[in-house]
Amino acid sequence: MDIYFYNTLTRKKEKFEPINKEEVRLYSCGPTVYYYAHIGNLRAYLFMDNLRRVLKYNGYKLKHVMNITDVGHLVSDADEGEDKMMKAARRENKDPFEIANFYLDAFLKDIDKLNIDRPEIIARATEHIDVMEEYVKKIIENGYTYETEDTIYFDTSKLDKYGVLSNKNVEDQKAGARVEFDNGKKNISDFALWIKAPENHIMKWDSFFGKCYPGWHLECSAMSYKYLGDLFDIHTGGMDHIPIHHENEIAQSKGFSGHIPANYWMHVDFLTVDGGKMAKSLNNLYTLEDLEQRGYEPQVYRMFNFTSNYRTPINFTFEAMDSAKIALNRLREGYLAHLEGTANIDEEQINEYEQKFLEAINDNLNMPVAMSVIWDIVKNPNKSKTLANLLLKFDEVLGFNLKNHEKQENIIPQEIIDLAEKRKQARENKNWNESDRIRDEIISKGFQIKDTAQGYEITQ
Ligand code: AMP
Ligand code: ZN
Repeated sequence: MDIYFYNTLTRKKEKFEPINKEEVRLYSCGPTVYYYAHIGNLRAYLFMDNLRRVLKYNGYKLKHVMNITDVGHLVSDADEGEDKMMKAARRENKDPFEIANFYLDAFLKDIDKLNIDRPEIIARATEHIDVMEEYVKKIIENGYTYETEDTIYFDTSKLDKYGVLSNKNVEDQKAGARVEFDNGKKNISDFALWIKAPENHIMKWDSFFGKCYPGWHLECSAMSYKYLGDLFDIHTGGMDHIPIHHENEIAQSKGFSGHIPANYWMHVDFLTVDGGKMAKSLNNLYTLEDLEQRGYEPQVYRMFNFTSNYRTPINFTFEAMDSAKIALNRLREGYLAHLEGTANIDEEQINEYEQKFLEAINDNLNMPVAMSVIWDIVKNPNKSKTLANLLLKFDEVLGFNLKNHEKQENIIPQEIIDLAEKRKQARENKNWNESDRIRDEIISKGFQIKDTAQGYEITQ
């Protein structure tokens, strides 16, 4: 069955035609590892996971690259403000490389907890500085740059058009308008490719232009070229990447190879919290761990994301998370009920479910409709192993690990048992405050503990 994706480049839904039918090549803009990922960031990677799973379900092999920005870039996409990595290094009194390693590790743990299917290649910017340098040299050779005393700029006026993705008028852009170090930029949309590092700049590398560091748009162009070539199928990122970061990636590729690097550009919309922006200052910025501490396992957040299409904003509330938690339990119980069933289901009925599910996911990843097929199966009063197997098959796209749940049902995690043991010890020492505190912690992780003559009993 054909797949249709909304392509930001053409501003319409298009039939997906891969360059090579055997293997789809894709690139996703990954995280800047200067702090923990928040649940908004994680929405972007759940979308990426969803796309991977849908392509695989349709029989494609994938070669997918995601970058890790572990070299400082400025706090805004438009080369303005402070360097994010340096700022974090100062905040935590650490080396920026230590910061990057620490938060990269935290990020990978988060995506594993969410059962996000990892891209085949995860490429760290700092391990590709030489690739970026060669890339810049070729753009220079092709005549798309100019240099000031400390920066090599991309000259956007050399392009037939700058802003193909957002279709914007160059005059409207504020990009770079307030760059402090800039004293020789020619056009408002020009951006830094290669920058001479000031004395106190920690992340810097020897290069043809002295001790430098790369502009942040460069890593995606250079690394996608290295692993996927100068033309690949799909490029993904957050909506916020459209106006600057992706325009600049396209500009760089045009300067390097003469054309736009990917055929389909897909962008995921934002997560809002209580209808507004998520910000530390508003005390509404949540990480996956915050959700876990409130008793929501990571898969509940996955379920919550399936209530909207990736191209629409989604509003996070704890009420919505409670509904997602109920829905996840319903799915697991529905699966187990079918697993024990003996009813016969006609082939026609199975085909109908399969067709509807495939139509939904191939219609630009329409997960709310795909989930409605899941609920139809769960609600089917004829309990049957065939339907349990069908749910397992669809779970390749959903990613809830239903199969695993079957094995782990009623198994209490070691972490909870350790807490229960600690609580038992506290009770023996008559440390009632500590015992109550541990009980609350156990409850916050989604378990109940009851004292019995033998010690305690834990239930889920
Ligand atoms: P960063 O690590 O800041 O580069 O962001 C990583 C990804 O998260 C990017 O693709 C952003 O577009 C995306 N992102 C940031 N904030 C949100 C949000 N509130 N909702 C959805 N995606 C977001
Ligand atoms: Zn990128």
